[in-house]
Amino acid sequence: MSGRFYNTSAAIITKHGKEKIIGPILWDAFHIHLELAYYDTDLLGTFSGEIERPADQLGTARLKIQQAAAISNANLLLASEGAFHPHPDTPFLTVNTELIILFDRATEQEIIAKHTTLETNAATISTNDEATLLDFAKRIQFPTHRIILIQDNKHNGSKQVLKDMATEAELINAFRSLQKDSKDIVVIETDLRAMHNPTRQDQIKITANKLVQLMRSHCPSCDSPGYQIQNWLPGLPCCWCNTPTKNTQYEQYRCTYCGFEEQKRVSKPCADPGTCDQCNP
Ligand SMILES: [Zn+2]
Ligand SMILES: [Zn+2]
Repeated sequence: MSGRFYNTSAAIITKHGKEKIIGPILWDAFHIHLELAYYDTDLLGTFSGEIERPADQLGTARLKIQQAAAISNANLLLASEGAFHPHPDTPFLTVNTELIILFDRATEQEIIAKHTTLETNAATISTNDEATLLDFAKRIQFPTHRIILIQDNKHNGSKQVLKDMATEAELINAFRSLQKDSKDIVVIETDLRAMHNPTRQDQIKITANKLVQLMRSHCPSCDSPGYQIQNWLPGLPCCWCNTPTKNTQYEQYRCTYCGFEEQKRVSKPCADPGTCDQCNP
């Protein structure tokens, strides 16, 4: 059934060069030609950033699929959406979650690849000091990774954002231009847009490879591709005391085409006692 993906057309809406990251992977796997879906700004109104992102990452990706459907005739539609948030247990670490949705027009089936990683240089600081700016730049690997500068003036409500600086001289000039005097604090952030962040590009590549695996998977009931883990069920018993832990015991698979479901036990027989609330409270 994954044969239906070979030599077909696909389209993605992106302003951040993601077609260059995902396209070669789909070409190698299925000879899919991934085209950039140019959007008609009149038709789509406020798509260029004025639309507030729906709270949910998946919802935003689905909105992009709808927009691609309105302007492209391709058989497959793709959308990629990234999110960055503090690690739930260790808030000083940042987690990057990348999603790629593939929507097959012929079957109206959705295949969703998800990748969660700590491999990110996402960071933000506030400073009025040039040396601190340059330290930050070095740490996040500027200029292969770019920086966004923000001057948020709470007093008069004005907000200035500068991006796309490509050299250290441009960065320093931009920093100075946001300071009325040298005491003014500027917010300095990693630019996380895909085309300006090779670390994120790598994560999108990993996600695209996961998508390829899902496109090659088969539902045991209907043979459709896109047979994937939808849920992780905790309860793997501790190796010392046998108490159920928060670790995954079963992976719940579900076919996004026919709805067939299956629970598969993880291969690990038991959980590391270090993760057990009884043995390591
Ligand atoms: Zn235990
Ligand atoms: Zn199925």
